[in-house]
Amino acid sequence: MTAKTGQEPGKGTYKCTNCGTEVNLGNGDTMPPCPKCSNTTFDKC
Ligand SMILES: [Zn+2]
Repeated sequence: MTAKTGQEPGKGTYKCTNCGTEVNLGNGDTMPPCPKCSNTTFDKC
C-alpha cells in the first residue's frame, strides 16, 4: 500500500520510498513530506 503526502492513510508506520526514513502516524494524521528528503511517497510497513 502506498501513501502520499497530504493523505490520511491511517494509523501505522510508513517508510519513505526514496530514503527509507520511517514516519509514524496516528488515526486522522495527515502524511507530511519526508522530514529527511522531502519525498512525498511512502510505503506502509
Ligand atoms: Zn525520505
